[in-house]
Order: sequence, then C-alpha cells, then structure tokens
Amino acid sequence: MAITATEQLGPKDSKWIGEYRDVHMNVFGTPLRVMDHGKGAHIWDVDGNEYLDFLGGIAVNALGYAHPKWVAAVAEQAGKVAHTSNYFATEPQIELAAKLIELAGAPEGSHVYFGNSGAEGNEAALKLAKLYGRTLHGALPDIGGKPARILALTHGFHGRTLGALSATWKPAIRKPYEPLVPAIEFVEAGDIQSMRDAFAATGQGEYGKGPVAAVIMELIQGEAGVRPLGADYVRQVRELTRKHNALLIIDEVQTGIGRTGKWFAFQREDLSGGVVPDAVTFAKGVAGGFPMGGLIAFGPKLSGLFTPGSHGSTFAGNPLGAAAALATLRTIDEENLLANAVERGRQLREGLMKTGNPLYVSTRGAGLLDAVELAHPCSHALANWALERGLIVNAVAPDALRFAPPLIVTEADVDQFIDVLAQAPTDLKND
Ligand SMILES: *Cc1c(COP(=O)(O)O)cnc(C)c1O
Repeated sequence: MAITATEQLGPKDSKWIGEYRDVHMNVFGTPLRVMDHGKGAHIWDVDGNEYLDFLGGIAVNALGYAHPKWVAAVAEQAGKVAHTSNYFATEPQIELAAKLIELAGAPEGSHVYFGNSGAEGNEAALKLAKLYGRTLHGALPDIGGKPARILALTHGFHGRTLGALSATWKPAIRKPYEPLVPAIEFVEAGDIQSMRDAFAATGQGEYGKGPVAAVIMELIQGEAGVRPLGADYVRQVRELTRKHNALLIIDEVQTGIGRTGKWFAFQREDLSGGVVPDAVTFAKGVAGGFPMGGLIAFGPKLSGLFTPGSHGSTFAGNPLGAAAALATLRTIDEENLLANAVERGRQLREGLMKTGNPLYVSTRGAGLLDAVELAHPCSHALANWALERGLIVNAVAPDALRFAPPLIVTEADVDQFIDVLAQAPTDLKND
C-alpha cells in the first residue's frame, strides 16, 4: 500500500490545528495532525494523507480502526441502550465482568469493578488497598497505630488523577501537585533490597512506620520507555508481599488485554506459576477505543472490602463500553491476535535490528509493546521524520521510540514500517 503523507502540513490540518489551539487547554501540546478516519492499522488526516499507525492511540486501538465486528457491536448496543445508572445492570456488563475474571484466571469469588480509564482503575485499587491496610496488625484504627503504606516503583506510571498521581514517579508531573496522598512511598524499580528496606521500616517506636498494605507496579513500565522488570525481581516482590501480608497490585493498563502476547503480562511464560496478583487494573485496549477501565480483585476476601457506598462512578460498567469490550475480547480470540502479537512483535524487533542502521542500538519489550533504543537522543526528530513519511511512532524517551500498533497489524504492515524506518538518517537533531 502506498504511503501518501506529504512533508507539508496540508491546508485543512493547518486551519483546524489553529482552531484547536484557540479553544483547548494546552496540556497535550500542539496536535501533530487532525485525523479523519481509519481502516485496520492505517489512518487518514483531514487533508487525505495516509499514516501507518504504530502507536495505536497509545496501546488502545487493539482491533485497529473501524473493525467491522467492533463497529457492529457498538452500533447494535447504541440502538438498544447506551447508558443506565448503576441502579440497573445490563447483560453486556455482566458478561464482560465474568469474561475478564476468566481471562485473568482469577480464583472463585473474584470480582470486577468498572471505571472509565486507567487512572480510575488504579484509584479503585488504591482505595481498596487503603481499606485492606486498616485490617492489618499495627495499622489504624488500632490505638496508637500508624497508617498503612503503599509502595510504588521509581519510573512507574499509574495515571494523572490525584490518587494515581501519588503513586506515579516522574517528579516533573507529580511535584507541582504536592502534597498528595500520604503514605505512598517509592522504592527503586528492579532493586529488591530497596523494597525489603521499605518493608523493614514497619514497626514500633518513634521511627517505625505503619505496615505495608500494598505494592503497586507495572510489569513493563510503559510510559517510562517500555522498561521490562526481570522475572526474578517480580517473583521476589510476590514472595515479599506474601510474607508481609501485603497486596500485590499489578497495573496492566498498558500491558493487558493481549498487548504482550498473553491476555495479561503476569501470565507471561518466564513467570509460569510464579506470580498470582491480588488485584489487576486494566483499561487502554480493553474496549478497543471506547473509554473503559477497571479492576479485578482476586478472591472473595479482597473484593468484599468494597460495600455499597465505598466507591462508584456514574458511567461505571456503561453498556456501550461493555459491548465494545466484549466485541474486542471476542475478536482477539477469534482472529488469534495473541499469537499475532507475539509473531509481529518478533518480526518488528528483529527486522529493525536487521536494517543495519546504526541509529538502532537494541530493542526491548514483549509482543506488541516494544521500544528501540537509539544511538543518540533524537527520538523527537526521528518521530517527526517518520510522521512526514507516513509512520506514526512515539518518542517515549529522548533515546527511545515506542511501538504499540494495533494487534491486527499484518506482516506486510510491519515490513512496510521497517522499510521506511531503515532509511532514517543518522544525523538527526538531538532532543
Ligand atoms: C496509560 C496508563 C495509565 C493511565 O490511564 P488513563 O486511561 O490515561 O487514565 C495508568 N497506568 C498505566 C500503566 C498506563 O500505561
């Protein structure tokens, strides 16, 4: 398929981008293009330029654009009922919760909470961890107790709402909003001793801290530049949390729903049987582009801490989103997209290194959540260079590009993508 993107911003793009800036708060910077429609892994802007999308709405568009099964499911549900309050339930919502529990392999008595985004999934998880923390020995409301703590990892990302932000590491986005939620502490990602020390700080006396209620972590730190955590480390975290009766909350907002070639990253082969989390959060890809997120709590005890009034959201379990999610999960299954994620991911990582372009130093990631490390920190210039040649990639770090294409991406799409990236000049400007 020919790539038709031009080096110049077209007249319609220019006009709309100007108007965008007039009326939107500038939290996202200036949009690169104004998009009109898509098909598969391809999308067209308002001037008719075509792009091969290897960002996929940041790991959201699992089925690509306008997948007929997704479109039909959303249209059908929209024609029936798009929203009810949570005084009522709908079939898609009930089916979806059961399906997610099944796909996560969560034990009997596990339950789901639905929200509308990744941050909301994590908010629910943090609130659940707070309720859990109150049940621990030595924590409030015991007389003289100390509030239970939550441990998060350096480089971790859990969202922008105040609770989720409190567990998000990047100082530039967190510091301006301090003071945030108390009793959330950061430990060094990948360094088990750092976590052991944090647990050991629990205890009596003036300097002793409250018990640890939970550890929240990603298995591949997506926003930090697709940084996978080692299997040994993950297993040790599980042992440590179990030993100290702390919850292990795995944030699968980016890694979940087939992205890494398994339904969830905690199911990956090198962890076989090694980690079973206490809670998993999900969002991004779950509804193939419809805003939806949530939490799966493993087992009845943890789920039971939320009671009527504990938490909620007007749109939680919205039937339109649930129908979109069911269509997404069904299609991932029917079209063998987990296997496709594994194969296309390998093709992408190997193909990029085989180009011999010295700009590409190494690759990392799993399935279709990948990054390439660059020889020098020119990721923004490279992403712009690629965009002008009809490729969408993400400059996730100054020295790394992130790839998260739709799970339906084809072998030909990946070949085409590599052919273009192979030609990248090595003297691009540094960030
Ligand atoms: C994107 C992301 C979030 C936040 O999701 P939103 O839908 O933007 O609120 C949380 N955790 C991880 C790991 C993410 O990648």
